[in-house]
Amino acid sequence: MSETPHGFDTLQIHAGARPDPATGARQTPIYQNTAYVFRDAEHAAALFNLQEVGYIYSRLTNPTVSALQERVATLEGGVGAVATSSGHAAQIMALFPLMRPGDNIVASTRLYGGTVTQFSHTIKRFGWSATFVDCDDLAAVEAAADANTKAIFAESIANPGGYVHDIPALAEVAGRLGVPLIIDNTSATPWLCRPFDQGATLVVHSTTKYLSGNGTSVGGIIVDSGRFDWTAAGKFPSLSEPEAAYHGLKFHETFGPMAYTFHGIAVGLRDLGMTMAPMNAFQTLLGIETLSLRMERHVANAVKVAEWLERDPRVTRVTYAGLPSSPYNDRAQRLYPKGAGALFTFAVKGGYDACVRLVDAVEIFSHVANLGDTRSLIIHSASTTHRQLTPEQQKAAGADPDAVRLSIGIEDADDLIRDLDQALAKATG
Ligand SMILES: *Cc1c(COP(=O)(O)O)cnc(C)c1O
Repeated sequence: MSETPHGFDTLQIHAGARPDPATGARQTPIYQNTAYVFRDAEHAAALFNLQEVGYIYSRLTNPTVSALQERVATLEGGVGAVATSSGHAAQIMALFPLMRPGDNIVASTRLYGGTVTQFSHTIKRFGWSATFVDCDDLAAVEAAADANTKAIFAESIANPGGYVHDIPALAEVAGRLGVPLIIDNTSATPWLCRPFDQGATLVVHSTTKYLSGNGTSVGGIIVDSGRFDWTAAGKFPSLSEPEAAYHGLKFHETFGPMAYTFHGIAVGLRDLGMTMAPMNAFQTLLGIETLSLRMERHVANAVKVAEWLERDPRVTRVTYAGLPSSPYNDRAQRLYPKGAGALFTFAVKGGYDACVRLVDAVEIFSHVANLGDTRSLIIHSASTTHRQLTPEQQKAAGADPDAVRLSIGIEDADDLIRDLDQALAKATG
């Protein structure tokens, strides 16, 4: 495309996509194949030595997946991206180049339930650990770090508690500590928040949610801002020191701002194999074409439904940063001016039991463990997604036992309100 910078609405359709060189096909084809013919033995050797960029084998690179990587990197304002098999895979892949056994991250207490579990239990098997802190207490974030801390991890719009993180403030702390700030931008999407513009180093997504948008495809992606100096303080030897598996190549020296992305593909995908399938990349590309249109409707509907719930006497509280009653409303307006997302929780008179009755009584809302679908979704986090957490962790994450979480879809807002009205009548009657 030309040098004039294009708007988001144009880039979400065109970035990373070009007519297929073989056929002229306008939509990005699904390259449903495993391997690519080398021009000759010399070409093959150059590809394997990372002296030339090209396609070898679809665990590493695939043209459909590459189109998605380029599109998301462009929308986030990053230099490169690595697509993965799921959002959880993206989190492991994001940490992998940074961490060695004995290293740790400082993570927000307000995270997706599965992430809390992944960080509190599973990463320990790699010798990594996470220290969870309340990210409103910046002094505590800084104090939680030690010489082996390799990243700060938080979500832009946190799920499920109606909380938004102050990314510029966290970026300042990360800068003082000399570590990257990783932002999970799943719930905001680059339409509502571009973490790199606010000082973040890396972005991860579960593309399963708003990016694919239709509830069809599990996937994830890691995007690099290209701005971090991986040689600083000798903290990140995987990126700055010779890589034995590539004849002593140093990623930072060889690839400059693309070091982290190339490491993600050439070492991460090669050896961990958490690769996105071409069909899922295709579905995700299709979804992204309408991202801004959907997000506008998601947010407008969320505001309408949240305002209606807040006025309802059967509801004891609504935690949505898009409402003036939220303690995070000022921060949301300052840092997320297009809206505070479409996920929030509300508490029902009658507590845990009423919540369970409510999720059984809805008709348009679907009771599922997902978010970011065109369809409106409901879940009682405390008995499902956040069930493995301790009561303290549930509370910190905003998954209180008397609250249900809504992921507001793009249907007619009045229909959503009528559905909640009849379900609340059954749940509290
Ligand atoms: C869903 C989700 C994840 C995990 O992604 P999967 O694609 O389900 O592996 C991580 N973070 C957030 C904020 C999510 O919503």
